[in-house]
Amino acid sequence: MKRNILLNPGPATTTETVKLAQVVPDICPREAEFGALMEFVSEGLTSFVANPKDYTSVLFGGSGTAGVEAVLSSVIGEDEGVLIVNNGAYGARMCQICDAYGIHYVEFKSSKIEPINLEELEACIKEHQGFIQYLAVIHNETTTGLLNDLDPLAELTRKYGLTFIVDAMSSYAAIPIHMAKQNISYLVASSNKNIQGMAGVVFAICNKQKLQELKDKKKRNFYLDLYAQYEYFQKTKQLRFTPPVQTLYALKQAIIELQEETVEGRYERYTDNWETLLEGITRLGLTYLVAKEHHSHIITTILEPDCEGYSFDGMHDYLYARGYTIYPGKIGENNTFRIANIGALDRNDIKEFLECLEKYLIGIKFIK
Ligand SMILES: *Cc1c(COP(=O)(O)O)cnc(C)c1O
Repeated sequence: MKRNILLNPGPATTTETVKLAQVVPDICPREAEFGALMEFVSEGLTSFVANPKDYTSVLFGGSGTAGVEAVLSSVIGEDEGVLIVNNGAYGARMCQICDAYGIHYVEFKSSKIEPINLEELEACIKEHQGFIQYLAVIHNETTTGLLNDLDPLAELTRKYGLTFIVDAMSSYAAIPIHMAKQNISYLVASSNKNIQGMAGVVFAICNKQKLQELKDKKKRNFYLDLYAQYEYFQKTKQLRFTPPVQTLYALKQAIIELQEETVEGRYERYTDNWETLLEGITRLGLTYLVAKEHHSHIITTILEPDCEGYSFDGMHDYLYARGYTIYPGKIGENNTFRIANIGALDRNDIKEFLECLEKYLIGIKFIK
């Protein structure tokens, strides 16, 4: 099979074994055999970040946003509120979801490239005490590659008795997370980023005790009802509605491959890719937006070459024709593009990409 190198922030490049795991005999997902697969997947996903005795993964067919929407719309009661840290497009998306459902929220706006100012955040929590019961944050802001450090935020949730919701879509399975230690009650991720599976499944890893408290809450959703799906799965080992069957076979294989590599091992490999990338672009005269010490090591926002012959589309098409998919920037005030170094890639793939990028930059006379 042709191997494409995806340098977009998910769906990520997958192994041949994950791709081929989708080719299985047809099966009805209501059969016990599929239930066993679902149980393996649910417990496997939980185990990377928490003890399955106290936490569980609730799955839905859908993209990552569906999972964030499921948590916000199922968890936050009518007389409750959430403080949302917004330092990029995905924090903004949480606000949009709350707007759509009429969920009470307070938006804490923060720099897209500098770490969260914790004193200001604490002052904001204090100001809205009594009105907010939840803190919601993006772990790795995929917009820029800025990593929001969860430890000090966890401390604030403990100090003010807040329930902690984390969108870990682009950090789960790459950056080590410990839900109990970091006081996280709900963590959302999907099948197609660092877990290196296929797109189509999203999961919320939930504290079981917290889930139980949702039982009698007034419903605002139907398909995305977190408690209903949790309860149904416990009884049946099934999703309430048709799951993406083949994506789940691929996800099982992806879990096995991560169990072999370990999250720590994957983080090391990604970091190696990332360092290779930064060294390379610096050598080519390009600069990046987020300082190294605040960076997730997963996706890098790079300033576009200031050069007459340059256009993003021109660069994209040149690289795409050679097997590399790059991604446009998502931050208005700077002209940027993005390179993710996740998926089944190693430093040699990044080096070969850099050679290709160098040829393009010579071609447009940005460098000699
Ligand atoms: C990718 C991503 C999402 C979800 O995007 P979908 O297109 O719905 O899969 C949500 N949050 C973050 C931080 C992401 O990186």
